[in-house]
Amino acid sequence: AATAKIIDGKELAASIRANIATEIASLNASHGSFAPHLVVVQVGAREDSSVYVRQKQRAAKEAGMKFTHKDLPADVSQSELLSIVQELNYDYTVHGVIVQLPLPDHLDEKTVTEAVDVRKDVDGFGSGNIGQLAKRDHEPLFEPCTPKGIIALLKHARTEISGKNAVVVGRSNIVGMPVSHLLQAEDATVTVCHSKTKNLAELVSTADILIAAAGKPELIKGDWLKPGCVVIDVGTNAVEDSSKKSGIRWVGDVEFATASQVAGAITPVPGGVGPMTVAMLLWNTLDSAKRFLKGWRRD
Ligand code: NDP
Repeated sequence: AATAKIIDGKELAASIRANIATEIASLNASHGSFAPHLVVVQVGAREDSSVYVRQKQRAAKEAGMKFTHKDLPADVSQSELLSIVQELNYDYTVHGVIVQLPLPDHLDEKTVTEAVDVRKDVDGFGSGNIGQLAKRDHEPLFEPCTPKGIIALLKHARTEISGKNAVVVGRSNIVGMPVSHLLQAEDATVTVCHSKTKNLAELVSTADILIAAAGKPELIKGDWLKPGCVVIDVGTNAVEDSSKKSGIRWVGDVEFATASQVAGAITPVPGGVGPMTVAMLLWNTLDSAKRFLKGWRRD
């Protein structure tokens, strides 16, 4: 039987979204039907991207936000895409702009991500926000959503972070790297592992807090873990499962069956980090809208 406490991201995300909805309702009442406005730019029709965009749309609508889905053809040129982003940057009725990744090969993700105005970069992927995140005693306007959700989960589970050993497996721009900065800002001692790391199991065994974001199904085994540690499993990997109607099953980067015998607390997959990411996107968009309401406009 599992001994670890299950950290329920679905429940926490639902309560955060309810709070956001309440705040939007009161902004709406006090500021003449004002609503935060999030725009998602999607290029092409990748099935997985469409699923994520629909999730964001549903969540935004439920919270009382305005949501615009800019659905662009797969062959849109880089300059057309950049000019659409520019228009959104200048549109003062828009508070959050995200470009759904990945983009088709002919488009340069880096250039497009950097084109979003730092004040509307609610994904927190641009250098302005990442740079501030990495500096000591500086606060970015927006923290990237998945890392921000991870810290919220740790705090919700009343995990002590200060002075603890945190091991992050993965160093991507959207998860591993930014979460390592956030953990450092919370005074953890942080070790970042990646595909060239030699002694992964040994390093993982030093973790009081483990953040797994490698995208490798069940890479990390229960017997690698320090007893009582807190595990946040970001991995969302589809594996074949003929017993399921869909033919697939979702697993994390951590082998849940064994890890939950050793860890003190662990997030499930699905139902852990995933729902938090969407809740944090709404949070960032609301923050942005509040700053714009205070007169922080570009025009
Ligand atoms: P990337 O593929 O961009 O990055 C994976 C990272 O893991 C890289 O830094 C890579 O190292 C490292 N890595 C790969 N294999 C190993 C290994 N065997 N040992 C140690 N490190 C390894 O993935 P993302 O960061 O975008 O996503 C990670 C996972 O999180 C995926 O499963 C993704 O689906 C999921 N995810 C979930 C989200 C959610 O909201 N729930 C949001 C975002 C992602 P190197 O740098 O050397 O290549």
